[in-house]
Amino acid sequence: MVRLEGNEAHLRGSLETLELRVRAILDNLAHGLSLYDSQGRLVLCNQQFLDIYRLGPQFGRPGTTFREILEARIAGNTHVGDDPGGYLADRLSAVSESRTLGGIHRLNSGQVISMTHTPLADGGWVSTHKDVTELHNMQAELTHLAYHDALTGLPNRTLFYRRLGNAVGNVTPRSGCAVLCLDLDGFKPINDSLGHAAGDTLLRQFAERLSSSLGPEDSAARMGGDEFAVLHHGSVASATAVATRITDAMQHPFDLDGDVVSMAVSVGLAATEDNGTDTDTLLHQADLALYAAKRERHGGIRCFEPDLDQAMADRRRLEVDLKRALEHREFELHFQPMLDLSLQEFTGFEALLRWRHPERGLVSPAEFIPVAEETGLIVPIGDWVLRQALAEASRWPAGLRIAVNVSSAQLIRGSLVTTLMQALASSGIAHDRVELEITESVFLANSEQSLDTLRQLRSLGVRIALDDFGTGYSALGYLLAFPFDRIKIDGAFVRALSSTDDAKTIVAAVADIGARLGMQTTAEGIETADQLRAVHAAGYSEAQGFLLSRPMTREAVHRMLAAAYDVVSATPELLAG
Ligand code: C2E
Ligand code: MG
Ligand code: MG
Repeated sequence: MVRLEGNEAHLRGSLETLELRVRAILDNLAHGLSLYDSQGRLVLCNQQFLDIYRLGPQFGRPGTTFREILEARIAGNTHVGDDPGGYLADRLSAVSESRTLGGIHRLNSGQVISMTHTPLADGGWVSTHKDVTELHNMQAELTHLAYHDALTGLPNRTLFYRRLGNAVGNVTPRSGCAVLCLDLDGFKPINDSLGHAAGDTLLRQFAERLSSSLGPEDSAARMGGDEFAVLHHGSVASATAVATRITDAMQHPFDLDGDVVSMAVSVGLAATEDNGTDTDTLLHQADLALYAAKRERHGGIRCFEPDLDQAMADRRRLEVDLKRALEHREFELHFQPMLDLSLQEFTGFEALLRWRHPERGLVSPAEFIPVAEETGLIVPIGDWVLRQALAEASRWPAGLRIAVNVSSAQLIRGSLVTTLMQALASSGIAHDRVELEITESVFLANSEQSLDTLRQLRSLGVRIALDDFGTGYSALGYLLAFPFDRIKIDGAFVRALSSTDDAKTIVAAVADIGARLGMQTTAEGIETADQLRAVHAAGYSEAQGFLLSRPMTREAVHRMLAAAYDVVSATPELLAG
């Protein structure tokens, strides 16, 4: 008896130890755990289980029914779905049918719970629960980051391609889908001059305006830099309406924490309706249309047309030909004289580049210079022009100036200062006989660097002229930015002289500004004697134009210089009219 009692005590002691150990294990599990018997009554659970579902300690007592626990969860909002009655019924029937309840559930409280449910041989079940909200949110955030642009919050290129792929795959002859490629006009100069923080603000504001211009079915994406795209489900006509809403939304200026700037957006559009339906083709077509839109006018909308493919092919051809042109010595310089209006003498020539294309004949610089600028070929071409022009001018009488056009791309990308120093040295020409003509576009792209280069060039003793004056955005401002030696008013103002009085006022005002700022003034594009008289009367220092002489070959220049006296003596008659 005594022995038995001793055994019983020993047994009880062992059981207690076991229970303590189980409790220790349960309480130290990473998971919440609950064990039910075949009647759906709780056998045991741990604190983690109660915590996850925000249940009070009374719900942890053995014998609590599964139903009571479910009801408490509904009361505490830790159930799933917005139909508590349905939820309760579903869970109760699931356990009675030994259906598995495992999986990941989002509770109404916002928690995300991963749970397992395992039926046991005795008819009960055991379930584990883990709160994975943080992990889940982190994963969602990572997924968001992988598919969205951090700056604007818009979908990125990857997500756009995916959506476009789906849209194109599901397109029907009646539904159609369209791609809009967008590019901000003149974003870079704003970014360069106001700084990257302002540039970022601008992109964010742009993205907001873009998003609010879209229909509920449309989706926008930032493709990179200042390029955006929109996927539209619908026809060309409805896509054009979206494009118009977008360009309209950019009409009023942007306020970048005090700096107010205007910015337009160009849009290229392509739709599956009447073209091929694969994503690459569609994007390519929208890109071609965007390219055309940008070339035609800023802030414009252009739909893809098959002609654009041809235009692009022509351009690529031009690029390839242009690359060869330098090696094949297809470039030559022509020279157009400039008439000093008070001396009534030609005082110099402007070098104008010509391309003698083996098949197309003479190609205008207006056609190939922009391509050379975009491809960077302008640097070696410009270097050649400079060396050639200075070498040629060094053979002229010492009083004659040589003017050379320099593209802003050369100022930014090239080593213009070194090239000029070499050309000056090898030609032996006096530095003050050399004038570089730059255009107002210098001030749009990376103007600080360009101005710095201009100062270095000028310190070599050459002169700097501002060409095509009046065609840029803030012409007068440029005069303050750099002390030019000369202003060349754009030929368009000269041409307008005969038709409007306003042109007369502007032409006269520019001469006046030049005189006051101590800058020489040249009127270009003089085609009639009336125009010549007008600019003479307005006080211009020099005139240039077809009336006086067309650009001519170097041989013609030599002939003209030989007979210089005759040419010069003809000019007083013209001025007298
Ligand atoms: P630009 O520097 O303003 O040159 C004046 C342009 O007007 C020249 O056209 C000239 O032939 C033309 N022109 C001269 N007088 C008259 C006239 O009375 N009436 C009309 N309608 N036009 C006249 P061109 O030679 O076709 O050159 C066009 C532009 O190409 C130049 O404008 C210049 O910006 C650029 N360019 C020419 N050569 C070079 C070069 O070597 N380097 C660079 N970067 N640009 C160049
Ligand atoms: Mg010029
Ligand atoms: Mg000009």
